[in-house]
This record gives sequence, C-alpha cells and structure tokens, in this order.
Amino acid sequence: MFIDTLKERILKEGKCFEGGVLKVDRFINHQMDPYLMKQISIEFIRRFADLSVNKIVTVEASGIAPAVMLGYQMELPVVFVKKQQPSTMSDMYVAHSRSFTKQCDYNMVISKEFLTSDDHVLFIDDFLACGSAGKGIVDLCRQAGATIEGMGFIIEKEFQMGRHVLEAAGVKRIESLAIIESLDNGQIKFK
Ligand code: 5GP
Repeated sequence: MFIDTLKERILKEGKCFEGGVLKVDRFINHQMDPYLMKQISIEFIRRFADLSVNKIVTVEASGIAPAVMLGYQMELPVVFVKKQQPSTMSDMYVAHSRSFTKQCDYNMVISKEFLTSDDHVLFIDDFLACGSAGKGIVDLCRQAGATIEGMGFIIEKEFQMGRHVLEAAGVKRIESLAIIESLDNGQIKFK
C-alpha cells in the first residue's frame, strides 16, 4: 500500500529536530521526489472523491509541489498563497499566521482575482502542525466568501493539535496521509 511506502520513506529519510520539527528535505521540502508526489496526489484524489472542488489552494513554498501535482491530475487551477506582498499586488485579502518552523509571525496574502465567492477550495499542504497556516486559509476564504471543502496534508504531527484548531475554525473534512503520534527522543512514532 502506498501509505506504507510513504511511512517507510519518512522513517528511513526523516530527521527529528528540537521543538518537534521533522526534516524531510530528501524527498519533500528541498529535494523532491515527483513520483512520490504523484502517488500522494492520487491518494488525495481517492480520499476527496466525494467532494466537488473547483480550485486547489496551497501556501508557498513546500505546498506547491503536491498542490500542482494534484491540480494537474484533477485538471484544476492551483493558487498559492504568498507570504510576502508583491509590490505589484494591490487588491488582496490578508490573513495573519505564525510560522511553526521559523517561530515568527507573517501575513498570508492572496489576490482577490484568484479567490472569490464562486470557489470551492481544497487546501493542500506538506505538514499540519499547530494549524496556523490552515487557520489563515480559513480566514482568507471567509473574507472572499469562498467555501473550504476540505484540507489535505502529507504529514500531520498529531501531538501539535492542529486538527482541533482547524475543526474549531469550521473545517469539516481533514485528511492526512501519514499521522505522527510523537517525535519524542528523536523517534518517529506513527499513529
Ligand atoms: P502549522 O501552520 O500547522 O503550525 O504548520 C504547518 C506549516 O509549517 C507547513 O506549511 C509546513 O511547511 C511548516 N511545518 C510545520 N511543521 C513542520 C515540520 O516538522 N517540518 C517541516 N519541514 N515543516 C513544517
């Protein structure tokens, strides 16, 4: 099964860092494995098959690869939320978020042109940690009047409680492919 392959890969190539950070830069966050990304997108398609979606949304930078692969397979447009406002962007929605890995606050921005009340959004990201990025997406969609149909993550670190944050923010459908129960003592323990 594909999920077993993904978990094996995380166990073999993932590295644990202080503060509950998992580095998977051999195949997701720096060097990327397009074939794995393809399998990830096929699994997302299977899990979200019952949803009616017209747009994939992600956050730069690490969400872009899985989101584009999914958009390609589903033949849907992909929009990535920016973490810095480009000088050429004027009409946009802005939401506040906090970076888990950098431990700093930042603004998420998306042009009003690319998120509207007609949109039924599937949000895709590499990690679900404390749920701050996902909550920012909820905020942006609320401002635009767009509907969030679901959120999909490659890796969820369950012990950082992001799922509860997103559920409390009204997200009804959350799918994570590999769920990590703990990273205690540098050991990756899956649920
Ligand atoms: P959250 O907003 O849910 O707290 O964190 C999710 C975001 O932070 C994701 O966009 C992801 O890029 C980054 N992130 C969170 N935890 C990790 C981690 O353990 N490793 C890596 N590489 N990125 C993470």
